[in-house]
Amino acid sequence: MQQPVFKLLAVALMLFIHCEVAIAQLLLQPGDPPKQPDIPVFYRGTLMDIEQAIAKLQRGEVAQIATSPGGLPVYAVYYGEKEGFKGQANYNSAVAAQNPAFYARKGADTKPVVYFIGPVHGQEAEGIVGLVNLLEIAETGKDLRGKAWPELGEFFHKSRVIILPTGNPDGRRRVPYDTFVGLPEETMTKYGQGTKKDGTLWRWPHAKALHPMQGDVGILGAYFNDDGINIMHDEFFAPMADETKAIMKIALEEVPDITVSLHSCSCTPFVIQNAHAPHFMKRRIDDFARQLNNRLISLGLPNRGSNWSLKVAPEDEQFPPRSSFNLVSALHHASGTMAFTFESPHGTIEDGTSYEQILDIQLTLYEEIFRYVMAERLLWE
Ligand SMILES: [Zn+2]
Repeated sequence: MQQPVFKLLAVALMLFIHCEVAIAQLLLQPGDPPKQPDIPVFYRGTLMDIEQAIAKLQRGEVAQIATSPGGLPVYAVYYGEKEGFKGQANYNSAVAAQNPAFYARKGADTKPVVYFIGPVHGQEAEGIVGLVNLLEIAETGKDLRGKAWPELGEFFHKSRVIILPTGNPDGRRRVPYDTFVGLPEETMTKYGQGTKKDGTLWRWPHAKALHPMQGDVGILGAYFNDDGINIMHDEFFAPMADETKAIMKIALEEVPDITVSLHSCSCTPFVIQNAHAPHFMKRRIDDFARQLNNRLISLGLPNRGSNWSLKVAPEDEQFPPRSSFNLVSALHHASGTMAFTFESPHGTIEDGTSYEQILDIQLTLYEEIFRYVMAERLLWE
């Protein structure tokens, strides 16, 4: 439930963000394709859409967990009572004592905890669309198309759920398009990873070669907050971004059983392995990834084909190293959570995914996450 003052502030902030977004929309450059005129009403992936979803929450409790360098709020929405877990040590000390229960006692009498981290890369708004629809399902049982998701709705009664609609509002605000559905991948790359001063594109993965992204910057890519920090690759032992600190703090305090960091590319959907998690956890992530892929196949949604699986082999034998200790690795080692990255299609010309399919992929992912945690939960006793 919310206080009237909070609602007033939310409306004022909405107007402010609306103006800011209007300014950003003026920033289309000569040669950029025009914005899509026909985005469906259920496809809500902007900061304004997050504000509107939050303003009408009845069941979920909202908190502002950080303020971005650009002055924007980062929100978390909570469902279900928080368990005490009776911890007496931090996670890595508890592991050194050979039982994570010293960090958190998670018996069968406790509810599982599920942590959804919305896009930390501002151009990857498909996760916002999914989470805004998930909030609607948590509140009403139906998505914004009016489609009922009874199983998803029921999970909210059996779990503690934390939803961050976006982890990087600064980056989101800088994107002049509400979505990249039907646009060239090149346009997404220009605004996603940004450009150098001479107008050439930074591209993936070279956009990670300069961090913080400061100096040779024409368009600052939506990968970054307004300070040029890529939250996926922050300095986790001394975080530079308040957004990162807030994301990590929730993991430490909430002890999620499962955590997903939502991303997108011009691709079919897939889970990325957590390169620096222990092998037992990599096997779980591979099991989950194949289960999700099989479900996408059975639903006729974009998928990776029936022979696809993740590597569980030790990537740390490679030199030079290629698999970074990133946000999901840090989340696992801080809290024991089964943390992984999910990549959704953007709907670009190259990946050809539709608005409907993108929303179905997101909601199917969420349903599979809940199913997995209910069936395969690790108890710490
Ligand atoms: Zn990403």
